[in-house]
Amino acid sequence: MLLGACLGQSATPASTPLPPTATVPPSATAAPTVSPTSTPLSPIAVQPVEGMPTGTDGFPWWNDTVFYEVFVRSFYDSDDDGVGDFNGLTAKLDYLNDGDPQTDTDLGVTGLWLMPIHPAMSYHGYNVTDYYQINSQYGTLDDFKRFLAEAHQRGIRVLIDWVPNHTSNAHPWFLAALDPQSEYHDWYIWSDEPHGEDWYRAPNGQYYYGFFYSGMPDLNYTNPAVTAQMRDVTRFWLQDVGVDGFRIDAIKYLNDADRSEHSKATHAWLKDFRPFYKALNPQALMVGEVWDSSGLVADYTAGGDELDLGFDFDLARATVFAVGARRNTLFNEILARDLAVFPRQQMAIFLTNHDQDRVMSMLGDDVPRAKLAATLLLTAPGVPFIYYGEEIGMLGKKPDENLRTPMQWSAEAQGGFTTSNFPWRGLNSDYANKNVAAQQANPESLWAAYRNLIRLRAEHAALRVGETYVLDVGKSDTLVAMLRVTDDEAVLIVVNLGKEAISDYALTLDNGPLFGQYQIVPLLGAGDFAAPTVTASGGFTDYQPAPELPATSTFIVQLQPVP
Ligand code: CA
Repeated sequence: MLLGACLGQSATPASTPLPPTATVPPSATAAPTVSPTSTPLSPIAVQPVEGMPTGTDGFPWWNDTVFYEVFVRSFYDSDDDGVGDFNGLTAKLDYLNDGDPQTDTDLGVTGLWLMPIHPAMSYHGYNVTDYYQINSQYGTLDDFKRFLAEAHQRGIRVLIDWVPNHTSNAHPWFLAALDPQSEYHDWYIWSDEPHGEDWYRAPNGQYYYGFFYSGMPDLNYTNPAVTAQMRDVTRFWLQDVGVDGFRIDAIKYLNDADRSEHSKATHAWLKDFRPFYKALNPQALMVGEVWDSSGLVADYTAGGDELDLGFDFDLARATVFAVGARRNTLFNEILARDLAVFPRQQMAIFLTNHDQDRVMSMLGDDVPRAKLAATLLLTAPGVPFIYYGEEIGMLGKKPDENLRTPMQWSAEAQGGFTTSNFPWRGLNSDYANKNVAAQQANPESLWAAYRNLIRLRAEHAALRVGETYVLDVGKSDTLVAMLRVTDDEAVLIVVNLGKEAISDYALTLDNGPLFGQYQIVPLLGAGDFAAPTVTASGGFTDYQPAPELPATSTFIVQLQPVP
């Protein structure tokens, strides 16, 4: 089954990877090529970069990483056309992490997730027309490779968005598939009869299935040729280009031949896929978007034989709710529950992403509370993902374009995002007051809080991989307290979500890992701190680390053993 024959090409032996399908123009008359079904596997040489997280206490590198989600179109425009691009992103890498731990002018993130970077039919990129190329508005593949090398040099790993569930209806595969005689026909899901919602009439008179909308026909993963092609896509990016992994879009819909979410076929597909990509690069990370409750997300990760990580949407909602409502209950419950649901802290945690109203909009543009949200995110177990602009409190409410506006770099025209007068999308009107330059100059800014927390997490293994004890806070409904503990370190995080100071409170840990006597070393926040009296069961009872917890406040302290 080699479709190359359609173009008059000879069959390509399996030992020679075919060139990408990319160059086929989206024209119904040109049938695209397809790669052989069995791609030769040869692990790439993983070059560890000095300063790049390698993993702590047996946890994978990603538990040592703070990720940052980037919409390339909105990050930085290098060539004055109003559209962000890879040369622009490369120019701003020193903002994200300059590779020098001694400086404090950079945010300090060590991972990036790039929203789709391929040619696509819409501004957001989730309807791809060529999985092997870079969107020409963003630059060239060489631009991307240069960006990737520069990121790696600074100790930043890069995940790209992979959208396997569907293509654009302008993808050459779909255009070829319109011909019922084409070998591409079976790459999509067809019916001669209309079935109502999610089915769309094609020019050939048949109906195709597209879960999201007519412009995104679902691929048919019961067809092995589709799987073979998509494996080759991941092989290309992991092996030939050298990315560090993928954020997988809409994975719960992947193989839904029976139109059901989380189908057995989807789980089976992932179980087959995992050894494939791990053979290409054992360190590659696959983080999945399973937009659902934690139990259903964890079904993709708990067995250790499908995805590496899943986004924890429940905890994200609970975190934003806790800070917004100034109530601890949901956060404490969901965190305790999800620690059991996602074994070994294998969940990707976040506040909001590109599909949700920005957290700052949900918090009413309240900087002190945004700092609390940042604290909960960056001290919690799991792998944190920051959405670009969150660190300066960018606003944005639906529709989606408003969640994805250009980055606000400075008070200059167009926020310093572009020198064009016509950015692809207008900036938030607050950019003159709310921007990176202003907040970098202010040690009390939200940006400074993010940088300090990211740095603290990098410096303290307990914050990255420590076991987490969600403490009993007695009758307080505004306190969140966590103890994070490794063999070498114990760190206490206390957050008062409330708008009143609290002195009538007590922290209790019935059974814990503590032993002997401790002294307190403040890590973040000042105060007159007392050490706990450790009980015979390794915890403490009615412990008050500080006599009063100010309103809307946070402190983080280390419990250091007294020899
Ligand atoms: Ca540009």
